[in-house]
Amino acid sequence: MAERRVRVRFAPSPTGPLHIGGVRTALYNYLFARQNGGDMVFRIEDTDSNRFVPGAEDYIIESFKWLGVEFDEGVSFGGNYGPYRQSERRDIYKKYVNILLESGKAYIAFDTPEELEAKRNEIKNFQYDASTRMSMRNSLAMPKEEVDRLISEGVQYVVRFKIEPNEDVHVNDIIRGDVVINSSILDDKVLYKSADELPTYHLANIVDDHLMEISHVIRGEEWLPSAPLHVLLYRAFGWEDTMPQFAHLPLLLKPDGNGKLSKRDGDRLGFPVFPLEWHDPKSGEISSGYRETGYLPEAVINFLALLGWNPGNDQEIMSMDELIKLFDLHRCSKAGAKFDFEKCKWFNHQYIQLKDNTELAQQMLVQMRAEGVDAPVEKVAKVIGMMKSRVSFVKELWDTCKFFFVAPTEYDEKTRKKRWKEESPAQMTELAEVIAGIDDFSIENQENVVMKWIEDKGYNTGIIMNAFRLAIVGEGKGPHMFDITEVIGKEETIARIKRAVENIK
Ligand code: GLU
Repeated sequence: MAERRVRVRFAPSPTGPLHIGGVRTALYNYLFARQNGGDMVFRIEDTDSNRFVPGAEDYIIESFKWLGVEFDEGVSFGGNYGPYRQSERRDIYKKYVNILLESGKAYIAFDTPEELEAKRNEIKNFQYDASTRMSMRNSLAMPKEEVDRLISEGVQYVVRFKIEPNEDVHVNDIIRGDVVINSSILDDKVLYKSADELPTYHLANIVDDHLMEISHVIRGEEWLPSAPLHVLLYRAFGWEDTMPQFAHLPLLLKPDGNGKLSKRDGDRLGFPVFPLEWHDPKSGEISSGYRETGYLPEAVINFLALLGWNPGNDQEIMSMDELIKLFDLHRCSKAGAKFDFEKCKWFNHQYIQLKDNTELAQQMLVQMRAEGVDAPVEKVAKVIGMMKSRVSFVKELWDTCKFFFVAPTEYDEKTRKKRWKEESPAQMTELAEVIAGIDDFSIENQENVVMKWIEDKGYNTGIIMNAFRLAIVGEGKGPHMFDITEVIGKEETIARIKRAVENIK
């Protein structure tokens, strides 16, 4: 077969917020498209009007914008294959439904929901197929005149796909290999409903993939059972030669590996399952999102990329550009991928370490100023450089760095009991004087002078430094003492020591 241009699509139904599994599907499509210099199409599959949720489409677009997953064409992006919203393609589907009807590959069925229900009660494991269709009310079992009469009277009908029984259907899947199922297990799927003049998912999906010249269908494992039917539809239309290649991605599993990841797992274990916060328009319920929780988009991307794929070695940190180079559908696993959200936190931590300190400083300054604290951005960046290895989220930075900018007003009780000795007030008063005498306030010189003083006096270094830390920080944490004092400066260091001597009892 001639080389085709790579064209992939992400085709969500706007039935609510985008699940994190859907984000991974879109990401894999994107990586594949970019790697092959192909196109990434954004199609909205909204033929099931009952399940339409307002706001979902915008939500999905915003999510990908945040994550840096870009589309080349589609809803809100334009392109030559539009419209890209299925509800705007009714006439197109109608034409293709008629083609199947005329060629005898599909038929009209009038069975009402009640009649179908009665059949199900009558026949165990009833399936509308070759073995039962002649006993049903459809254009194969009824005289043509009656069919025409019912239609002209406006009786509602559906169009069903006529599946030939007992045939092995092969789905050639890049990840799963040759998947074979027997056509007898398939039912005559409804392709179209006269009631809303809309096709079902199966027909619209196949027609659009064909017309939009999609070369690869990369989607979640939950769509694998539909694939044989899709293969048969391509065949019924005579489109075998341009049938897309399938790749069904592994399921996302609960963190413990037992079953499919659900929103409830996130609620129960405290992690988001949606990219952005979602406000349900009906219930008013708010579900947390990765963005609002404080995840960096590059961390989320890196985390998701490795859920079901790996580069073949133990490299873990990969930028979008690297992922585009390394991604390989053949290296995707068949087995489900455990959703290890602790790993996502780890990625976030890693990406904070890689982030530019000035950029982080600008973000932290917003928070600082909201609390009425200000400082030069260079100073903030310097502090962040010293402190960021201690945080997993940008929003934790301020709390972690605060003591550099705001003197303690309280002293941690436990630390005070343990670290502030009887001799501490006198020793700290002395230390304040020693520090006042230091001209070169570099880290090294401070350390030399203070250590010499401790030695000369025969003091215990631990006792001095612990009390010193309590005075400067207000608790027992923090980096090297002279790293801190170098940043806050001599005057502030002395002031904090004096205040501690007065206030710690
Ligand atoms: N509309 C389907 C969805 O919501 C698309 C499935 C497919 O990619 O074929 O995921």
